[in-house]
Amino acid sequence: PTLAEVPMSDGSLPVGVERREFDGTERLATRGEPVYGEPTDGEWRAWNPHRSKLGAMLALEMETGLSGGESVLYLGAASGTTVSHVADFAGPTYAVEFAPRPTRDLLEAGAPRPRLFPLLADARKPETYGHVVESNVDAIVQDVATRGQARVALENRRFLDDDGRLLLAVKARSEDVTREPAGVFDDVCATLEDGYELLEQRRLEPYHEDHLGIVARPR
Ligand code: SAM
Repeated sequence: PTLAEVPMSDGSLPVGVERREFDGTERLATRGEPVYGEPTDGEWRAWNPHRSKLGAMLALEMETGLSGGESVLYLGAASGTTVSHVADFAGPTYAVEFAPRPTRDLLEAGAPRPRLFPLLADARKPETYGHVVESNVDAIVQDVATRGQARVALENRRFLDDDGRLLLAVKARSEDVTREPAGVFDDVCATLEDGYELLEQRRLEPYHEDHLGIVARPR
């Protein structure tokens, strides 16, 4: 379908992600050990959409297709802020990060999470982790914030199930600091269409400036 034919989001959350109250404010939350100083009630912990593009996509009621329990390849895991929430509700969660320093924190976030598999690897070289990541994952979540974000998504498409979803955060300034974000987003979407059908696109303001959230499926 073209974008116009895609039904409006019903804002459904995956099982294992709930809206819960912390200090009198309703927030998205997952069940697990806290990782980045977020509020917790001892069982559930708040998921801060200002610190997480996927959190923002869910808070903005994008139709991610995540239902809970699925296998996930997460590209650009950094110190594990978002991927730790993902591993709280998803199945096997492969977390790729190429910078050694944040990967140390990522390992710590993974310690109490048996389904989180941190991988020190370059997302532009999928052949270096292809032997670890199961093929046909249900979702790829990507937040690498480097030039060539569409290329990274295309290169990792091989891991995604035919019915799977790509949940991509595009940072305009990472592609070109001098250009208008709208033009950058158009170019990224056009490149993505080499391998994906775009289902939904939404700017991530007010949570993240000049970022586009994209939901796509393999062509
Ligand atoms: N997704 C994280 C979160 O929400 O908690 C934040 C990710 S941060 C915006 C982008 C991360 O992607 C950085 O830690 C960076 O080192 C990593 N990154 C950039 N290019 C990468 C690549 N080619 N392979 C693996 N990681 C990469």
